[in-house]
Amino acid sequence: MAYYSIADKCLLLEKINSTIELSTLLDLLGEQIDSLELLDGYLINLLDASGTALISRKVHFTSEYQFLENTYADYKIELTPDAANLSVKAYLQKQIIQADIVNATGEVKRLLGLWKLEDMAAIPLMAAESKQNSKLPGTIVLLKQQGKITHEILDIFDELVALFHAPLCNALEYAYLKDNQDRLEAAAAEQSRFLQFIVEMNNMTSPDRIYDMFAHELFHKLTFDMVGFFLLENEVLVSKKISITNPRYEARRAKWEQFLLSHPYQQNTTDGGISHTFMRNTPLLFPDVQKIKHLPMSSNDQATMKILGGVRTLLMVPIRHQNHPIGVLTFFTFVNTLDISESDLILLNNLSAFLGTAIINGRNYLLNLEQHREIERLNLVLQDKVKELAEQASTDKLTGLFNFRTFELELNRRINEFERHTDKAGLSIAVIDIDHFKKFNDAHGHNAGNVVLAGVAREIGKLVRKMDLACRYGGEEFVVILAKCDPEGIRLFAERVRTAIAGAVFDTDAGKLSVTVSVGCTTHQAEDTYESLFKRADHALYRAKENGRNRIETA
Ligand code: GH3
Ligand code: MG
Ligand code: MG
Repeated sequence: MAYYSIADKCLLLEKINSTIELSTLLDLLGEQIDSLELLDGYLINLLDASGTALISRKVHFTSEYQFLENTYADYKIELTPDAANLSVKAYLQKQIIQADIVNATGEVKRLLGLWKLEDMAAIPLMAAESKQNSKLPGTIVLLKQQGKITHEILDIFDELVALFHAPLCNALEYAYLKDNQDRLEAAAAEQSRFLQFIVEMNNMTSPDRIYDMFAHELFHKLTFDMVGFFLLENEVLVSKKISITNPRYEARRAKWEQFLLSHPYQQNTTDGGISHTFMRNTPLLFPDVQKIKHLPMSSNDQATMKILGGVRTLLMVPIRHQNHPIGVLTFFTFVNTLDISESDLILLNNLSAFLGTAIINGRNYLLNLEQHREIERLNLVLQDKVKELAEQASTDKLTGLFNFRTFELELNRRINEFERHTDKAGLSIAVIDIDHFKKFNDAHGHNAGNVVLAGVAREIGKLVRKMDLACRYGGEEFVVILAKCDPEGIRLFAERVRTAIAGAVFDTDAGKLSVTVSVGCTTHQAEDTYESLFKRADHALYRAKENGRNRIETA
């Protein structure tokens, strides 16, 4: 006589077939077992992904022992052939294994006693008709506190298992696949994130950004509370950056940073953990500082422990560049200790080598940048110097006017230009010579003469327009080229120069002194060359001297 009617079965199968989720199926199976009201508890144990153990996926105990449910949830039992465990036996032997308090021995009896059970049975989760060759997803363990687990009960379970077997197999497989997929996706995401980190680090040049990014990555991989970056600079290990995971550690971070400013670690193994790690070029791990804090420590380390307070796990790793230490990374946890596995250490070692490369690359980049800037600066200085030299070459030092060389070049250029132009507005020159300057020098000295020379140049400078060119031709002789200036214009200009200088008083070391000038001027005529133009002006000057000086003559 079947316990479940055809109608019941159909209803149940409909529910079962509507899901592929393992947990939903287990809940459904659990509900069914509960509704039978034949047992005081049960465990559904399913094969794990590796196929080497059973895991309790659903546990239900009587109210008295409900507190045990958490303990047994996800409990793992290895499938070892000689195990006394009922579930393992039922699974491996593919048959029901039953044990009662009277006949049981050893571990099983102890368990029955502990759970106050009179009877328990482990039944393999498979359909009766295809027992030997069907897949076996796990077992159900039935618990009874009073009375026996009878044949009738087992028969009902046979029916139940037949209904659930295939769907459970599928759901379990599906769960494994999904689990695998989730793991693969997580691993792929982590890998791509890490790759991104590597790429960004490689492009990074600002040391501060390198530390930030690196700290972020470290905190992502290992749950430390603080990390400090130390680099060898000027023969000592200097703190470059201290990063924290939680703002509540800011006070001690800031205090330690302040302390380290005046207490860098020396290159001496006895100066503390950081020095030791650096000198030995090997990681140094203290799983729990609280257990060793009574041991002798360097004064730097003592102060550090006091400032940081309650340090638990402390790990120091050398920062290496091409295997040589260039600094130290130091990690702290404050509240809990952190288990550092061998693979964590390998990861940190690799990351620290990577960090070393990034730091050196960044440093080289900055150095390059600095050198580049220095070269640019020197270039500017050089340009200024060249300009200055060019000016020096074209101007006269004493008067600041253009020199003879510039006059020659400029007059030639302007004559050429003038000849090419159709509207000839006039190109004139005036030659200005100080009268009796030899006598002046003899009477008042060379210094006073120089002051007068500069003064005369200044007076001339005041009277020229932008497009004119005033030059010191030699000794006490000046010449002015005037663009767009006709004979009348040059005469007016010459006269203005003469009167301005005659009226000027120069303050010299020999007292307030005056001089006069004679001026010869002329205007460009057809066929004029540099020589012919200048010669005419010079003749005019000669005549001005002849005719009594302090006067102008035109030619
Ligand atoms: P004149 O009226 O005929 O031009 O007579 P002068 O004495 O001015 O002419 P001369 O050519 O005989 O003498 C020019 C003098 O100008 C000679 C020199 O002592 C003076 N002299 C030339 N260059 C400088 C200079 O750079 N500084 C000073 N203090 N004197 C100069
Ligand atoms: Mg002269
Ligand atoms: Mg003279």
